[in-house]
Amino acid sequence: MRKPFVAGNWKMNKTVEQASLLVADLLPGLQTIEKIDRVLCPPFPSLMVISQMIAGTAIGLGAQNMHWEDSGAYTGETAPAMVKEFCEYVIIGHSERRGYFGETDETVNKKVKAAFAVGLTPIVCVGETLEENEAGKTAAIVKREVLEGLKELASSDAQKLVIAYEPIWAIGTGKTASAEQAEEIIAKIVRGSLAESFGAEVADTIRILYGGSVKGSNAAEIFSMPNIDGGLIGGASLKADDFIKICQAAEGTLE
Ligand code: PEP
Repeated sequence: MRKPFVAGNWKMNKTVEQASLLVADLLPGLQTIEKIDRVLCPPFPSLMVISQMIAGTAIGLGAQNMHWEDSGAYTGETAPAMVKEFCEYVIIGHSERRGYFGETDETVNKKVKAAFAVGLTPIVCVGETLEENEAGKTAAIVKREVLEGLKELASSDAQKLVIAYEPIWAIGTGKTASAEQAEEIIAKIVRGSLAESFGAEVADTIRILYGGSVKGSNAAEIFSMPNIDGGLIGGASLKADDFIKICQAAEGTLE
């Protein structure tokens, strides 16, 4: 039985003051949703304050990116141990990082290994562009991203992974893959590729999320699919009511 998982990717939104107000709004509702893992991924400047605000709760905290090196002359970057001071999770290889900042399967692989080396759990993002989707390349792209991004990982680490399948054409666009489309890619391609790398038993334990315009109104249907273990939520994670509704939908799958 995989525990449902919902993470809010705030992207480059909210000053520290605004972030604190959002967390204050989220806290009462999120604390009542105890049967799932719920994780907030704010921008770096807010991590310290939010880690203090959620101390003593079971709410998790994640960063949106990090470098793979331990330290050194990498201006503007953040090292794994710095993220680990405040977080348990780190998003790796989000399509916006791949698309705007030149991240590749190779850098994703280095970051995933570096995350495990300091005890962080990576939330690894994979997904195809609209062009790739229309050219019938979805399966090949997603398979490559899973195999290459996670290559040479120990099975003991692989079991702890969280993967997010996010069709890029569905991110921030209001378009979602249908629940059945997402289930098919996640079951056959994402979980199938994980089985190829780590064996079916390990692949069955790994939580796989769907991401791409998930809202309070469509979350229950998407999460009802047997291989979809929750969601990575962008826009809707910036509104307390919406994010709580999405977390409740994930908890509802346990009934
Ligand atoms: C995301 O940023 O990972 C995402 C899925 O965004 P949105 O929910 O806004 O589509």
